[in-house]
Amino acid sequence: MNASNLQKKITYKEKTITKVGMFNRKHKHLSFLGLIYAFLAIFTYNVAFYFYRNVKRFTCLACIILFFISSSSFSYPAMSLNISFDSDISHEEAVSDSAVIISQEEIAESDAELAEQVELDSEVLIESQEIVNPDVTEADHLNMDNQLSLDDILEAGELTDESEITISDEEVALGTEGLSEISFTKGDWKIMLVNKQHPIPEDYEFPLGTISGSMRCDDRIIQPLLDMMKAARNDGVSLIICSPYRDMERQTMLFTNKVNRYMDGGMSYMDAYNLASQAVTVPGSSEHQVGLAIDIITDGYSSLDEGFGNTAAGKWLAENSYRYGFVLRYPAGKEEITSIEFEPWHFRYVGVDAATIMAQNGMCLEEFWSNYVE
Ligand SMILES: [Zn+2]
Repeated sequence: MNASNLQKKITYKEKTITKVGMFNRKHKHLSFLGLIYAFLAIFTYNVAFYFYRNVKRFTCLACIILFFISSSSFSYPAMSLNISFDSDISHEEAVSDSAVIISQEEIAESDAELAEQVELDSEVLIESQEIVNPDVTEADHLNMDNQLSLDDILEAGELTDESEITISDEEVALGTEGLSEISFTKGDWKIMLVNKQHPIPEDYEFPLGTISGSMRCDDRIIQPLLDMMKAARNDGVSLIICSPYRDMERQTMLFTNKVNRYMDGGMSYMDAYNLASQAVTVPGSSEHQVGLAIDIITDGYSSLDEGFGNTAAGKWLAENSYRYGFVLRYPAGKEEITSIEFEPWHFRYVGVDAATIMAQNGMCLEEFWSNYVE
């Protein structure tokens, strides 16, 4: 301690004692208060003085403690991959459920997988760009030959051409008139919200209907779907549906395959899961699993990409699909809300009332929920 510091300390102590002495002389009966004040003031001053003198030492100590805290395990999750633990847990269960199925398939595919692994590095790059269109990657794995035009359906004879389009016109007329009085409830299957934040409830059941052959979807949307396809044909537009319903097993298989392939390439499970969830919809959060979503292509344009929006079919659908209860589920400009890029081919049945409101107000399903669903 240098001389001036020592001098300051002594001066402060003396000043305090003098002050307290004066106070005690004036108020003799309160002298104990003066003594307590003197003690606390001098003690606090000494402690502060001690810290002041050793500031470098204490700074070093604080740095060392901070270093240990930041590198220890309990602070690790905050620094990791921005993955919610909920989805990890449910995913782990899903993975273990299907592990047996996958491993058998993997044995059969192991030769092909070995060859694929060589290309994995470049693939990881490509697939991280596929975030834009989850459906595209899914469709790659699905059988793209599995497509169905209106003629195919009618030729197959499983459904007849008796229904009249006028039914839906009436529905539209009714719908627009009384829209303000309609209320929507959370339990309504038509407006069911399915996304990463709202996975499909485990006990959700629906009537699975057959459109034709192996093409299936929720039975209740087949008629509106056919009405829409007929109306489009009357306007000279061809609509071809592909990959409507996918079951949980298939969705899980697609997803697990993806995770495993990334992990084979040396990624940790967390990294692999994160990357896979961008390329393939996480099992339990795809609208295709509840049979309410349909991917649509057209004659002469069979890729699921943004270009579909510029085809006659893409334009017709964007303009008219709501009349039949379908909405373009992932519109351009709503990516921040839906977390999914513009998908002009992916249509979701929500019923004519909700579809009309969404079309009139330019809302996506998430916005509709926050504004209209009680
Ligand atoms: Zn889709």
